[in-house]
Amino acid sequence: MIFEASRAKAVDKLNQFVENNLSEYSKLRNFDFGPDKRSNISCLSPYITHGILNELEVIDKSLKKFSFAKNEKFIQEVLWRTYWKGWLELRPNVWSDYLIELSNLRNKFKDNQNYLNAVEGKTDLECFNQWVNELKENNYLHNHTRMWFASIWIFTLELPWQLGAEFFMQHLFDGDAASNTLGWRWVAGVQTQGKHYLASEWNIRKFTNNRFKNIKLNENAPPKVSEKSYTLIRQEFDNPQNIEEKNLLIFENNLSFEITDFKENKFKKIYIVSNKNENRSIKLSEKLLKFKSLLMEDQRQRLKDKSIDCETIDISEIKNIESYYSFYPTVGENLDYLNSNNLKMNFLYRNLDLLAWQYCNKGFFNFKSYIPKIISSFN
Ligand SMILES: Cc1cc2nc3c(=O)[nH]c(=O)nc-3n(C[C@H](O)[C@H](O)[C@H](O)COP(=O)(O)OP(=O)(O)OC[C@H]3O[C@@H](n4cnc5c(N)ncnc54)[C@H](O)[C@@H]3O)c2cc1C
Repeated sequence: MIFEASRAKAVDKLNQFVENNLSEYSKLRNFDFGPDKRSNISCLSPYITHGILNELEVIDKSLKKFSFAKNEKFIQEVLWRTYWKGWLELRPNVWSDYLIELSNLRNKFKDNQNYLNAVEGKTDLECFNQWVNELKENNYLHNHTRMWFASIWIFTLELPWQLGAEFFMQHLFDGDAASNTLGWRWVAGVQTQGKHYLASEWNIRKFTNNRFKNIKLNENAPPKVSEKSYTLIRQEFDNPQNIEEKNLLIFENNLSFEITDFKENKFKKIYIVSNKNENRSIKLSEKLLKFKSLLMEDQRQRLKDKSIDCETIDISEIKNIESYYSFYPTVGENLDYLNSNNLKMNFLYRNLDLLAWQYCNKGFFNFKSYIPKIISSFN
């Protein structure tokens, strides 16, 4: 599977999916037919994560094809992402605690053979080994496979979820602090305390069309237990009343200035900010860094074509820039860098996030009831 690093290709992919495959999405989405047969799902996540496409654009296109009722499942999935982002924004210490736990576990497991076999795809489980290779080669896994993978990692291989989440972040083209950390926490049973996701042989057989043999799993493990519980820390997000003419920083999560809420504003110069491994807690694979840099280059080129003054800089150069706004990078490595270097922050938030994050204080079931309201606010 190839993800081409450009907005033009992403828009093509969205159009193709809506035109040809959206109608069957809710019926077929749970099947993983293999890496060369992905038309039952959109495979848009690497683009949505980097802001190459935004959620509203995707939903809008789907609603031009089918009614809300026919599209509900797809729209819910697209907004799961927005929900996870908001959930983490309101409890950012879930991310910082995760990184502390991860750093302790890394040391403890660096020579652990069970762990090394898992990340090298050398376990006794054929399906798991194939998924490890697929993750490293294609930088993508199907959603159901991510659930099986995480469940096998935690409950059959008995490895800490934090290390599995790191392994995903190192390779996934859509790797995202919120969807990934909270996805792993959910499988382990610490996100919704006491409720875990247990992969089973029959389920894997059914939804992979019997592609794998010898699937011997621990199907009776109890959920993981965490002593930590998280209360809401942050709830206020706001944009300035008047946006002055300053420079603008954009990070890897907002790489399509043309579709942002601020495209009509005048900025002096746009800086596209890249972040090397030396400043990241989780070191990304070469392929993933390359993918990010190609997406940044595509954004730079599109801005240049519109005669907008722009430049790509390293995150360590921000300190040299005077008077700027930044598109909010969201909880994750870039925000950590800004915080730990005491960099000035005049954030601009997406209107979708300002509205949707209000409803992320409880569970997704509650959030779901606001989806029609959220969508109609942007029509
Ligand atoms: C353990 C685990 C880790 C995950 N890590 C990430 C991650 O780092 N980044 C990431 O974007 N997604 C993550 N997901 C969610 C989901 O697996 C992917 O978003 C989805 O597989 C992307 O494929 P797609 O674009 O074909 O999805 P589609 O089924 O076509 O869905 C359309 C869009 O909806 C959103 N979406 C769909 N399912 C989910 C979901 N369960 N949670 C959040 N958003 C969703 C994505 O933006 C996706 O592009 C993770 C899930 C699990 C169980």
